[in-house]
Amino acid sequence: MPSYGELVDTVERWRELPALERIDSGDAAALTFDDGPDPDGTPAVLDALDAAGIKATFFVVGEQLMRHHALAREALGRGHELALHGFEHVEHGTLSPQGARDDLARALGAFEAATGRKPRFFRPPYGRFSEHSFRACADLGLEPVYWSSWGMDWEEIPAERIAELVTRDLTPGAIVLLHDSTRYAPRPSARPTAEAVALIAKAGIALKPLGGLL
Ligand SMILES: [Zn+2]
Repeated sequence: MPSYGELVDTVERWRELPALERIDSGDAAALTFDDGPDPDGTPAVLDALDAAGIKATFFVVGEQLMRHHALAREALGRGHELALHGFEHVEHGTLSPQGARDDLARALGAFEAATGRKPRFFRPPYGRFSEHSFRACADLGLEPVYWSSWGMDWEEIPAERIAELVTRDLTPGAIVLLHDSTRYAPRPSARPTAEAVALIAKAGIALKPLGGLL
């Protein structure tokens, strides 16, 4: 199994199946946080977003949601949007056709049980669909999402560097990929991501949840 970084570095080659990469209209952009909810990272990110007056989208992992459902509901209560990011955070291309469908269905079940809501968006782990998970996504009424830019915060880099990478491509319609958990990445802490939020807010562009832009 390649590392998280190796997978994400080569993601451009995998975008053969269509998914939302940026939004065509409006003057705002979306911050999205993957891999939570996680008590080690999500609370600091929520506090940073509140302090900056930003509402964002959290792509949650089913197994994380099962453990930390109160944290997911807190994010909702604080005005953020929740979306789906699989159940076990496995790369769908490594699963059997049925396994890929099952991962998505299981994640959806966990999401509905924890929140009482149905998600609108799904982002596959590592940005990679299999044909089967792509079709399952459509069958389940979920809209597939990739991203237009990222803060490379799966690596151990400081908040200033994360903010620099994000701000460079922060134009209207951008969908920014960040992470509020270290569970599936090698870095020791999600703190730099939380600290980057205040720096990103200084870019002066309106930041809204993905669903608020479509
Ligand atoms: Zn992820």
